[in-house]
Amino acid sequence: MAVSQRLFRPAKTTVKNTFSSFLIRSISSSSSSSSGTSLDPKIDLEEAAAQLEKSSSTSPSPSPYKGRNFHWVFLGCPGVGKGTYASRLSSLLGVPHIATGDLVREELSSSGLLSSQLKELVNHGKLVPDEFIISLLSKRLQAGKEKGESGYILDGFPRTVTQAEILEGVTNIDLVINLKLREEALLAKCLGRRICSECGANYNVACIDIKGDDDSPRMYMPPLLPPPDCESKLISRADDTEEVVKERLRIYNKMTQPVEEFYKKRGKLLEFELPGGIPESWPRLLRALHLENDKQSAIA
Ligand code: ADP
Repeated sequence: MAVSQRLFRPAKTTVKNTFSSFLIRSISSSSSSSSGTSLDPKIDLEEAAAQLEKSSSTSPSPSPYKGRNFHWVFLGCPGVGKGTYASRLSSLLGVPHIATGDLVREELSSSGLLSSQLKELVNHGKLVPDEFIISLLSKRLQAGKEKGESGYILDGFPRTVTQAEILEGVTNIDLVINLKLREEALLAKCLGRRICSECGANYNVACIDIKGDDDSPRMYMPPLLPPPDCESKLISRADDTEEVVKERLRIYNKMTQPVEEFYKKRGKLLEFELPGGIPESWPRLLRALHLENDKQSAIA
């Protein structure tokens, strides 16, 4: 099926559409783990399908896209803006934005041996083990299901072919949006990223201005500065240092680029080259997703 046809495929409740329930198994086997996180995810699809059927019939959704049940994935290098665009689309479509990086950072904020081992990996730009991230995601999806969520926009997952295979085995991903940005901009964007330690909002103090040449036009991305309320509370992520960002980019190329290929082969990959900052890129992304005529998209 062509990528454009996948955008608005109506929701189906199939056995494959049960990733959230697959967690039930991994969660219920996690009680012995010190962090409450299982390292042994098992799948019981029949049970999962039955649970999903029960929950989807009672799920409230305020979105005008009710019933669409989007299962989308964002891929892209560190610093490309996955979080920014995934979160805007999540508000527009009324589905949760689930960023595995955020789940990992939450886990890091707890104390314990596992958390300090994870910190070591994350702060050096390495991936955490597949089993661990699947288990964290499972817990998050299960909690969402209990609140009546249906569908999701995943950001930062899958990041390895193994993760993609597991996801493909248990759910039906409709679309994978691969965000791309000129390499010169990626490092600068990571180094300029700032987060408000109080409200969690993301800003960027970098002003990116790349001269055009015969092959590519000038690219200008103005800084996204915080309002006065957040100004004094800004922090940087511990893994947004030059050395660690370069390592994250290296790991992305080695481990995650094959995931792009994985989805390309299945006809699910939509490549989207960001032309610049949010004002230029957002309308074009909406056009690429055939969402540009939606009244709500203008205010998202
Ligand atoms: P990035 O800005 O590099 O895309 P994220 O915020 O998505 O970073 O993730 C931060 C860190 O969390 C990663 O460098 C990695 O250590 C860990 N992580 C997040 N998602 C995954 C995943 N799917 N598999 C393994 N590790 C992950």
